[in-house]
Amino acid sequence: MAGGEPNPPGIDITKPNIARVYDAFLGGKDNFAADRAVVELTLRIAPDAVAGAKANRAFLRRVVRYLAREAGITQFLDIGSGLPSSGNVHEIAHEVNPAARVVYTDNDPVVLMHGQALLADKRTAKVVTADVRRPAEFLEAPEVRDFIDFSQPVALLMFSILHHISDEEDPAGITAKFRDAVVPGSYLAISSFRMPGPEHPEDTAKALAVQKLFNEKLGTGLWREHLEILNWFGEWELLDPGLVPMPEWRPEVQGQAKRNSTYYGYVGGVARKP
Ligand code: SAM
Repeated sequence: MAGGEPNPPGIDITKPNIARVYDAFLGGKDNFAADRAVVELTLRIAPDAVAGAKANRAFLRRVVRYLAREAGITQFLDIGSGLPSSGNVHEIAHEVNPAARVVYTDNDPVVLMHGQALLADKRTAKVVTADVRRPAEFLEAPEVRDFIDFSQPVALLMFSILHHISDEEDPAGITAKFRDAVVPGSYLAISSFRMPGPEHPEDTAKALAVQKLFNEKLGTGLWREHLEILNWFGEWELLDPGLVPMPEWRPEVQGQAKRNSTYYGYVGGVARKP
């Protein structure tokens, strides 16, 4: 789309959009000038924001590999999945177990369009349009229930979506509904923007400035307190090393992570339903 291809029908390309701005951060091709303008403005405030987006994708890949290989999970719900990127959930899971089942869900119609093209010949992965703010609609949809066996453990993946949900929209209530819908032995993985805190005043100032920019341009984007994010895991058992800057979550290579301005402001964790 970036190369002057026709606009997808029904899409306003003059307005930046979360999925496409994120795609632009990752160097993808499914974005337009208005999306890239938000990236440029962000990089003026936080020049290492691209590294933050890449750390999120790397965290996703390590988590899915862990869940498929070590935890033996065979069913994945990728909620707020975004546009196809490098190392999509089904690609990682299928490296371990070709029979693993993945449902991608997002409320963006462009994600559906690209996902359907990517998954056209797949019987083990599908994409469904749904809004995370209405968990029941998604969890009870026949196209999901015919595909996922809810009597068996499921991995709920909520990477970089809950910081796009406002306090009024109740992210704690949303996560609770998803947690209640799955059996013991299921997992919940979350990544989220986090306020770096008083120990990191420069990073906090940058987080506040990018938060302001995102809300002006996209209408969302919240850097929350650590305890608010922890609360989304409910009573589930948080795996080691806990809710941490993503490069610290079970890195494949030790001691490589750079403490840049996105390091303390972007965290991830995984928990298991006891
Ligand atoms: N999960 C992917 C990742 O971490 O690489 C993509 C993250 S992207 C920053 C956030 C995604 O959440 C976007 O694709 C956006 O369309 C989606 N999203 C935002 N609000 C949503 C909602 N209310 N329901 C479903 N998806 C939503």
